[in-house]
Amino acid sequence: MAETVKLLLNGEWVTSEATETVPVYNPSDGTEIAATPLCGASEIDRVVQSAADAFPEWANTPAVDRARVMFRLVALMETHFEELAQIVTRENGKTIEDARGEIRRGIEVAEFACGAPALLMGDSLENIAQGIDCDTIRQPLGVSVGITPFNFPSMVPMWTLPIALVCGNTYVLKPSERVPLSAIRIGELLAEAGLPPGVFNIAHGGKDAVDALLAHPEVKTISFVGSTPVARYVYETATRNGKRVQSAGGAKNYLIVLPDADLDSTVAAVMGSAYGCAGERCMAGSVLVCAEGAGDRFLEPLSEIAREFRVGPTDRDPGVDMGPVVTKTHLHRIHQHIENGLQEGAELIVDGRDVQVEETPHGFYLGATIFDRVKPQMSIAREEIFGPVLSTMHTDDLSEAIARCNASGYGNAAVLFTSSGGAARKFRHEVNAGMVGINIGVPAPMAFFPFSGWNNSFFGDLHVQGAEGISFFTRQKVTISRWIDTKRQFF
Ligand code: NAD
Repeated sequence: MAETVKLLLNGEWVTSEATETVPVYNPSDGTEIAATPLCGASEIDRVVQSAADAFPEWANTPAVDRARVMFRLVALMETHFEELAQIVTRENGKTIEDARGEIRRGIEVAEFACGAPALLMGDSLENIAQGIDCDTIRQPLGVSVGITPFNFPSMVPMWTLPIALVCGNTYVLKPSERVPLSAIRIGELLAEAGLPPGVFNIAHGGKDAVDALLAHPEVKTISFVGSTPVARYVYETATRNGKRVQSAGGAKNYLIVLPDADLDSTVAAVMGSAYGCAGERCMAGSVLVCAEGAGDRFLEPLSEIAREFRVGPTDRDPGVDMGPVVTKTHLHRIHQHIENGLQEGAELIVDGRDVQVEETPHGFYLGATIFDRVKPQMSIAREEIFGPVLSTMHTDDLSEAIARCNASGYGNAAVLFTSSGGAARKFRHEVNAGMVGINIGVPAPMAFFPFSGWNNSFFGDLHVQGAEGISFFTRQKVTISRWIDTKRQFF
């Protein structure tokens, strides 16, 4: 029987009272490696209370001291880098290279947070009127909550927790019930880095746990990342309850290729975008629009590489090109998308459904899959598949390709491959998405820029990471002062 993971509450690892649990799988071989308890409202209340109790002292801790904890966390994450990547691979199934990339991105946010004393500085202006000065300071809000998805078990929690903590907030993380193990290791390393008990806490569960967090009066901010329907629900519910919310949803990312794009680097970038992390990435390229006849040049080499893609158990074979998807249920959902595409008349030019992995036949595998002749109204052109399936369509010109992309309703990533500066400039100006790639397959911004989804890919105002992250986790106080000093007569 797999062990049930514990809650982190006031610095103690505690067994949950919950009677219901969700299995955690190693997707590479289908074995159960842990179980996640589904906490109810009373347990959530205890975890939030622990964060609320720790808040006054942590908020009063000088920013330099809070930053020093982050410096130590960075050092510990570097020391344990390989171990952290292996945990991600084991519970999520992505390749060890993808897992290393994820750990690196998380560390970069912690490095950014090390600069907190400078980032938290306010503004001031002397003599806004005769003898009167004005300044702003930034103060933390209280208990911050992170609710995270299965596809980046380490990086997505790390998008917000380092920044929330150095700003002086305390934190409750509710990781995806499907991948709780990376979050637990981060909790252990934060304690080793010297974070006081209660400043960082972990609660587990699904909808009931989330609902309790969204309603709790001590919770001041919610950072959610997950699918669009839940992101919208979280945003609407939490804002109604008076919380500050940043809520990132799903995506349907279009990649456009023009005939003048460089062949080798474009094919490599499209493959990385569509099949990296087995397509379970909110920045994954999902639709490839070949404009101005580009399909003649690019489709054959792409299909050839996709057919040769080696799929296998990422936990024991570092050489595989792609691993399994996260659960059997998710695998079935992706198969259903492929069925829908076939029924709607798209042409399956690379079929990954018959992939065989002899070493681990019970893993959740699907090979790289490519549809051609996809029409804009088909479900595979509109709905997020979140698996290794690329839909290809063709347009006469760039304007029509951009229009197809803009009609998606989402707005995470949009990418153009070209060697024309003019085309790139037109694309950047006209495309309706928050993160734009020019000859870059996955335009995910680094820690000092906002991760900037638009439309149905993001609900809220201030995004995660960078200066927007600092703004989200602080509130400003403006002080206007006049000192009447009659002795020195200086007004
Ligand atoms: P999900 O929406 O199923 O779950 C996300 C979180 O919400 C989990 O912690 C889960 O426990 C909780 N949850 C699930 N159903 C809920 C409900 N009905 N009410 C309240 N809480 C609920 O998402 P997932 O399958 O874990 O992750 C994949 C999704 O996340 C994809 O849609 C992907 O595009 C998206 N994602 C987006 C970004 C981004 O930056 N926009 C980044 C990563 C992943």
